[in-house]
This record gives sequence, structure tokens and C-alpha cells, in this order.
Amino acid sequence: MSDLTNLTIKGALTGLENKEFSSVELTKAHIDSVESQRHLNAFIVETPEIALQQAEASDKKRASGDVGLLEGIPLAIKDLFCTKGVQTTASSHMLEGFIPQYESTVTQKLFDNGAVMLGKTSLDEFAMGSSNTTSYFGNVINPWKRNNGDNADLVPGGSSGGSSSALAARMAMGATGTDTGGSIRQPAAFCGITGIKPTYGRCSRWGIVAFASSLDQAGAFARNVEDCAIMLQAMSGHDPKDSTSANREVPNWSSLYGKDIKGMKIGIPKEYRMDGMPEEIANLWDQGIAWMKEAGAEIVDVSLPHTKYALPTYYIIAPAEASSNLARYDGVRYGLRETGDNLIDTYENTRSKGFGEEVKRRIMIGTYVLSAGYYDAYYIKAQKVRRLILQDFEKAYEKCDALLTPTAPSAAFAIGENEDDPIKMYLNDVFTVPASLAGLPGMSVPAGLSADGLPLGLQILGKAWDEETVFRVAHAVEQAANFTAMPATISRKAA
Ligand code: GLN
Repeated sequence: MSDLTNLTIKGALTGLENKEFSSVELTKAHIDSVESQRHLNAFIVETPEIALQQAEASDKKRASGDVGLLEGIPLAIKDLFCTKGVQTTASSHMLEGFIPQYESTVTQKLFDNGAVMLGKTSLDEFAMGSSNTTSYFGNVINPWKRNNGDNADLVPGGSSGGSSSALAARMAMGATGTDTGGSIRQPAAFCGITGIKPTYGRCSRWGIVAFASSLDQAGAFARNVEDCAIMLQAMSGHDPKDSTSANREVPNWSSLYGKDIKGMKIGIPKEYRMDGMPEEIANLWDQGIAWMKEAGAEIVDVSLPHTKYALPTYYIIAPAEASSNLARYDGVRYGLRETGDNLIDTYENTRSKGFGEEVKRRIMIGTYVLSAGYYDAYYIKAQKVRRLILQDFEKAYEKCDALLTPTAPSAAFAIGENEDDPIKMYLNDVFTVPASLAGLPGMSVPAGLSADGLPLGLQILGKAWDEETVFRVAHAVEQAANFTAMPATISRKAA
């Protein structure tokens, strides 16, 4: 493991500026790291040639004095972002071989800011999952292992598990993710890295394969809060091609980084302290509360009374939108085609072979809750509860500036665990889904280790459009936690 792969984005930008190394050197170190860790299966497609071309161009650009926010920084791109000329699959057989003729707005912005693309990372199929075990291209493995000697391969979380695994394993300096119900925050927590889902509308959804359009939001992974701020700044901004993208100025988050939280009010939602919460999660949360007090914040108890309805509401709305979005995969327009005797047979054959089990389950649930007899009972009711969940947050934010909660109810689990019962898997999202339904920004910061030596995350939730406060509180957590642990394979090589 070369030292270059252990740098932060900020550190690498300084090194590039001081001519300690070039983007080509930095990129080569990361390409080597990707190649030597293929057993983790984090990437579906590696793009070393593109990366080296971009790095060369970036070195020239820098020499001419033109320096973007991520000039020369090698990144991993979740394979849900369409990339011009590079296969984009959403981890589905349905899209295998699909090569977009266009670039997603977010990846275009990253490239305009000088970023280098190492490849496309795996995810749960169509971003549906919490474990990256539903990818058509196989499971992604978390570089972390339990310290109990069982040597079990653990999930990296999901759906953006390829991105989180790649970052924890020092294969990339930053990565894109998308978060519909927790897919940035939960994998960040499972892999001991940092991830932010901004306010809905902050980043353009144009060119991102759609799962549930009213919830999907792009965001960033990095290994610390400051790097996440740099990444998000480069990705954000209004896009006339996405009518849900907000016409708002993008704050200069990277320069605001580091302000303290003295006098800030941090809310602790009592409904998140659920029955049966594992002791180590409860302890981590209490530790986080103590850190906030030590940093000069005031702790306020708040109530989000509709929290218990968030998961059922999400698992009606997200499948409903997915069933509608995924209707476009008909064997005619994109990717896979399995021909039959007539058009209907072709649709059926293509969709039966193209989609995996979890995607089919969601399409069936979604079609059911949208069907004539059940629309009012499920879909409309869920929309009403969604509004109540948003109102809960608005009320809580009259009393505080941000909320602090655990990110996930457990540490990373072994591949195969939780597979017997989809509901068990859905419970992973219990702390992340409410903010998704409300469209609010949320971030996970690594804050401690489980009894088995695995990373655990704390989640910071903010008001709409107030990512700045989220970054400030996250930074305070980061400083107090001083999380320096690394997966054993990485720390051995780094030593
Ligand atoms: N785990 C959640 C789901 O399965 C969230 C996924 C996501 O945020 N893309 O739907």
C-alpha cells in the first residue's frame, strides 16, 4: 500500500499543488490498489485507461493554472450514474452491456472539477438493498473483518457498497453514492468512512438510473468530513435538465469547514431509542451526546412521533415509484432483450430473466399498492404519513439546529445473514429512512468500534438546505471520536 493511497483528498490536493507528485502518479497508485484488491469485488468495470488520460489532462490543466475543486483526484463512481461510453448497469442483468451516450450531470460536474474516474462500483441491483448482496455481478466484500477470528466475509452495506468498500480499502480517495433510504449513510457506517446525503434537490438526478424518484438523491463518500464537503460542493448545483433540482446557490462548504458548535442546539429524538436497541449502539449514541456537550453544544430532547411509521411508509412509496420507473425495461429500449413469439412474450421473457428476486419483489409490491382497489388504502395513506413525518422534523427543528442519532442498528453483518427474511433486511434502514422521506440532509461519521472491532457510525441530520450545520456537527463528532482504526489488511500494509 503506497502512502499516496492513504492521503485525504485535501492532503492530495496540497501535495499536487506543491508538486510533490503528479495526478498520474496518484492515479497509478490507486489503479494498483484496485488491481490488488479485486477479491473485494468492489468494481463492476475498471477504467484505468480513462483514469490515466484524465490524470494526464489534469496535470496539464494544473500546470496552466486552471485548478478545479477535485483537480487530479481519483474517484470511484457508483454504477448507477450514467457515464458516456462506459457500461452502466445498476448492477442488473437487465442493463448488462448498456453503454450510455450521455454523461450524468453529477459525473460531468466532477469531471469539470478535474476528477479522475477509476471505474464503476457495484451496488445492490437498482439500488434496492442494504447489503450489496443483490448485485447481478456478485457480492461485494467489506475490507473489515471481525476480530473474533471467525474470518467471515462481511457485507459493506448497501446499496452503495462497492463505493464504501473501495474507499475503506484505499482504492479511491472519494466516491459517489446515491441514497434513497440510507444507501450512503449505512454503507459509510459499515465501512468506517464518512458519507453525506444532501437535501433532496441539491444534486441533479439527471443521468442517474431511477429507483424512487421522489427519494433518490446523489451524495458523496470520503474518508473524512472535510473531503466530503469538497466532494459535495463539486457535485451540487442547479440543473435545468432535472425539474426537481433546486435553483440555489451552492455554498462554499469546504471553506466553512472547522467552525465549532458552541451554543448550537443538538436534538436527541426519543423515538429513535427503540426497544431492543443493542447496548453497544445505545452506548455509542450516549458517547456522542457527551461529546456534543463537551464541544459546547446544548442537548435538547425532541420527539418525532411518527418515526414508527417511517419504514412501512417507505416500503410502500419506494416500491410504488420503482414499479413505475422500472416499467421502461421492456427489452426494446435498453440492455437485455429475450425475444419471444410476440411482443408480450418478449416483455415477459426479458423482465423475468433481466430482474433479480429483490427487484421483482419490489415491482410486485409497488404494482399492488398502486392498483385500483388498493391505491387509497396504501399509496395515498403512505403519502399522508410521509407529510406527517416531515412535519415532525419541522417541529423538532423549531427547538434545535441538528439531530444526532446512530446511523444503523448494528455493525456490518456476514454475507448471507439477514437473507432469510426481507423484513429483517429492511430494518437496517430504521434510522436513515425518516430523513429520506422528509428530503432532509444526513451524514454518517465513524465514531467507534463494536465489541467485534467493527466500525459504528453516528448520524447527523439537518434542516433542509442546511448542510453547513451538518458538516459542522459532523466535524465536531469526528474530532471527538478521533477514529483512526483501519481494516487489518490496510493497516498492515501501511505500517
Ligand atoms: N436499503 C434501502 C432499500 O433497500 C435503501 C436503499 C437506497 O437508499 N438506495 O430500499
